[in-house]
Amino acid sequence: DHSSSSSFMELELQYGVSNYVPLPIVIARAEGVFVEDPEGSRYMDMLSAYSAMNHGHRHPKIIQALIEQAERVTLTSRAFYHDRLGELYQAIARITGKNRVLPMNTGAEAVETAIKAARRWGHERKGIPEGQAEIIVCEGNFHGRTVTITSFSSEESYKSGFGPFTPGFRVVPYGDIEALKKAIHEHTAALLIEPIQGEAGIIVPPTGFLRQAAKLCRDHRVLFIADEIQTGLGRTGRMFASDWENVEPDLYILGKALGGGVMPVSAVAADDDILNVFTPGSHGSTFGGNPLGAAVAIAALEVLEEERLADRSLELGGYLMTRLRTLQSSLIKDVRGRGLFIGIELTTAARPYCEQLKALGLLVKETHEHTIRLAPPLVITKEELDWAFEQLASVLQS
Ligand code: PLP
Repeated sequence: DHSSSSSFMELELQYGVSNYVPLPIVIARAEGVFVEDPEGSRYMDMLSAYSAMNHGHRHPKIIQALIEQAERVTLTSRAFYHDRLGELYQAIARITGKNRVLPMNTGAEAVETAIKAARRWGHERKGIPEGQAEIIVCEGNFHGRTVTITSFSSEESYKSGFGPFTPGFRVVPYGDIEALKKAIHEHTAALLIEPIQGEAGIIVPPTGFLRQAAKLCRDHRVLFIADEIQTGLGRTGRMFASDWENVEPDLYILGKALGGGVMPVSAVAADDDILNVFTPGSHGSTFGGNPLGAAVAIAALEVLEEERLADRSLELGGYLMTRLRTLQSSLIKDVRGRGLFIGIELTTAARPYCEQLKALGLLVKETHEHTIRLAPPLVITKEELDWAFEQLASVLQS
């Protein structure tokens, strides 16, 4: 049978590279918070493609924008103007409060863009000698998979064998303001930070840390770069996780949900004095800012506001968190997060529990061995969350 789940998995395993270990489920259709395998079994998606599906699968308005745009023009390159890009810039400028936007495709590309901006800003504006700009990052960080980004990872499995690495980064413990203070020196151009660490296991920094870090950066003329690729666009119950401490980053990095779960769309937003370091020929991307991606991103940002997805995340996330904290289980070490961005840290490996939950019809994925990450589409209903909670309770309490 060439159309069964097992045949699709076999084909992937035959030709694919094993840089992932997927749960054994083949997704053939999806709508809203549900996905379906080729045999017609339905599952609730509580991973949302690592938070890229904040709007749910195939949101009608976003699909409509995709189809309408596909019937007009899909790709122009930035050698020419097109009639959707300015509108996308304006929408991103409005939510970030910044006046310049630079579009890319994947998250890693946008992080690379922010690093280039910070380095050039450091050399040209701050007066750091050429080639000596340094960027501070945090232990446990995850910003993507390019060689440069991998260079400042603190995770051995991400790095082993991939050197030589890019110099110019200094790693400090996450959430430690004294360590950050000590690490800043006259050649420091920027701090690159996740306001809540996602891949590390939904790590929320101590209260006040982000605000203190932002102030420290301002006092020392160091750019505060918030990687909001996973935490942004409503995921944590605010538009940006930085909003939890009223922090206004110098640069925002956006991705994942910006593409509405349809296209890879990412961007860096900052003010003139930073992003104007890019001059013609100094940076670019063939697909960055393409009409199809711009159309879905514009629709995705509209849906975010029309359906008040950040508010939904705040309310429903608080509700789920309260219920999860009532669970009595020696398996549970910690429950943490903000909005519908929740980590359940176990005292043991999380993978077997993810497999049990899959058998019950709930898709979640372990992160960093011990933590189950809950990040459902923000369009999820309270009743659906209740059902998910019952499955989690049955697996974790037995
Ligand atoms: N930054 C953060 C905080 C992320 O969580 C991710 C992806 O998980 C990335 C960057 C990389 O994004 P991409 O996989 O689109 O390159």
